[in-house]
Amino acid sequence: MKTILYPTCHDDLVYIMRDSRDSDKTLTVIGGETTFKKKSSEDSNKNWVSLRDFPDEIRLFPDDLTMIVPAGLSVDKVEKYLARHGFFLPIDIAGDSDRVTIGGLAATNARCLRTARYGTLRNYILGMDIVNSRGEKMRVGGMTIKNVAGYDIAQFLIGSWGEMALITHLIFKLIPFPKTIETLQIKFDTDLSAIQAMQSISDRLIIPSRFEWICAPSSLLLIEIDNSPEDTAMCQSICEEKGGSSKLVRNFEEQQSIWRTRRSLLRKILQKEQEAVLLTLQVTADAKEFLSAMKRERDISEKFYLFGHCNEKIWHIILPRKQAIPKRIARLADLGHIREEVGIGYTHSRVTENSESKCKVDIQNRIKNAFDPYCLFQSR
Ligand SMILES: Cc1cc2nc3c(=O)[nH]c(=O)nc-3n(C[C@H](O)[C@H](O)[C@H](O)COP(=O)(O)OP(=O)(O)OC[C@H]3O[C@@H](n4cnc5c(N)ncnc54)[C@H](O)[C@@H]3O)c2cc1C
Repeated sequence: MKTILYPTCHDDLVYIMRDSRDSDKTLTVIGGETTFKKKSSEDSNKNWVSLRDFPDEIRLFPDDLTMIVPAGLSVDKVEKYLARHGFFLPIDIAGDSDRVTIGGLAATNARCLRTARYGTLRNYILGMDIVNSRGEKMRVGGMTIKNVAGYDIAQFLIGSWGEMALITHLIFKLIPFPKTIETLQIKFDTDLSAIQAMQSISDRLIIPSRFEWICAPSSLLLIEIDNSPEDTAMCQSICEEKGGSSKLVRNFEEQQSIWRTRRSLLRKILQKEQEAVLLTLQVTADAKEFLSAMKRERDISEKFYLFGHCNEKIWHIILPRKQAIPKRIARLADLGHIREEVGIGYTHSRVTENSESKCKVDIQNRIKNAFDPYCLFQSR
């Protein structure tokens, strides 16, 4: 049975670190557990630690456009708090925002849906409070943009998957809440017309803050534009010209509901296909080329699901069976880069070793040792 420890203060964390070291157990930090597979709970040689019961007060510094957030808070709570106070952190994620925690988001360096317009999560993280495997508490980075003497450890810990230290708080830079947010929901009869519309929008150099294509089962574009009703009107007219039927949504609640549905898409597909082994691949390629290549390969599997982040030209393919993957899908790599979504750490070490050079793996291992000489932290 998995025992999860719920520290409520720094002293609890010191005790947990010491106890784990003394009892020769590894320590796995958990946030919303959205990246954990069920079988990970079978490992009894681990301590699990969650920040759920850590103090959850957000500290906002409106004059400085900064805030300090406890790492165990859900993305949803933080977004709602900021909207109430007129601030914005453009971190919309593809997963469940009511489960994914701010700490998990930083630890996985999750690519957010607004990246093309606003930059990645790391552009907004100024610093963090961490506890290392010795139980020492420290602040890396700080409250201002120019705040680093020596190596920028905070930036390094972003994407470290809980393998280096436990993050207790994150310091963010904020921007004001957009004056207008408009969402277009456009249905197309064919995938090709949706793709043509998305390409025309990109050709006009319009960068929506969120721009998603869903092709499961019918073709749908979701476009969100901040602070530019002119761009919204342009996108709407392009889509209608290509045969799309559009709905413009200005109501905040309705917009939230549209994006919630988009977020739940992957989970719904995975639930539906739970008998099968599933794999998500990413191909960075021209959408039209990608679609015709996928259609050529349709016999590989009767059923696959497609959706894409149009701004970045990243297309996800979900195939119901792993054995359907091999070489022919890999041929799509000619269109860009194709990869299975992986993280780092113990469970991914074989993947890392296969895809990275020996000297890079060596450097990574040495960094891990410098941060965590007891090899206490294990990602999943
Ligand atoms: C349906 C779905 C769609 C997704 N789509 C995308 C996508 O498009 N792009 C993308 O980049 N990601 C995507 N993800 C991944 C998603 O971003 C991660 O699931 C999320 O960031 C993890 O947050 P969590 O709180 O659930 O962390 P967990 O799953 O609990 O933990 C994730 C990792 O972070 C570590 N960790 C968690 N909290 C801390 C902490 N406080 N300190 C140190 N380490 C910590 C854990 O040890 C673990 O290694 C998707 C996930 C789902 C479920």
